[in-house]
Amino acid sequence: MNPARTRFPRHGAPPAYAGTEDAPALGWSRIAPQSGVAVELSPGDRLTVLDPLGEQVSDLYLVAAGDVAEVFSSGRTTDFGNSVYVSTGSQLWSNRSRVMAEVVDDTVGVHDLSLTPCSQATFDVLYPELGGAAHPSCFANLCDALAPFGVEPDRIGTTLNVFMDVWTDGRGELHIDPPPTRPGDLFTIEARMPVVVGVTACSAEKSNNGRCTPIDWRVERA
Ligand SMILES: [Zn+2]
Repeated sequence: MNPARTRFPRHGAPPAYAGTEDAPALGWSRIAPQSGVAVELSPGDRLTVLDPLGEQVSDLYLVAAGDVAEVFSSGRTTDFGNSVYVSTGSQLWSNRSRVMAEVVDDTVGVHDLSLTPCSQATFDVLYPELGGAAHPSCFANLCDALAPFGVEPDRIGTTLNVFMDVWTDGRGELHIDPPPTRPGDLFTIEARMPVVVGVTACSAEKSNNGRCTPIDWRVERA
């Protein structure tokens, strides 16, 4: 079992949420299954991603709004946070060692900082049963969402994979369990610099307990 589940034990039910399978709650937007969006944040703005149906991963990738060569760094985030986990209070660092955002709310405590976003190659390599068929992916969805901001595909590195349950056993072998989210579980970041955030509803069936579902989101402006 992922040690994050005991480091950040859950208490009670997720917050009440009025969204349904058909529509998000009032004031929220919806990322359709296997798609993505880009969200611009100014310092102090808060972005919440919410899992409306449960067991769904959402990949986040941050770039500096003023200079997209400055990007989210999972390496610096684990290094400076001294942890492979992020949760409330964690800072999200850039490749230039600046704080891009801080986690300010989290009802789950299980997120991944180790894996790159799922891509066509992911499906070619890890889903041989698909026979190389074209498949939607977080990487392609992040590329599409961030392209209007001048972000080249090669700038997109390891993502913050919200609600993704990845852990290693004593021999270093990787395990991916279904996301532990229940409907209404959420994760909120507050920007510390002007950023553009790519957000997906992950496309990889095996990371989402067999079914890819939507992600809802909203921004509270500072
Ligand atoms: Zn994905």
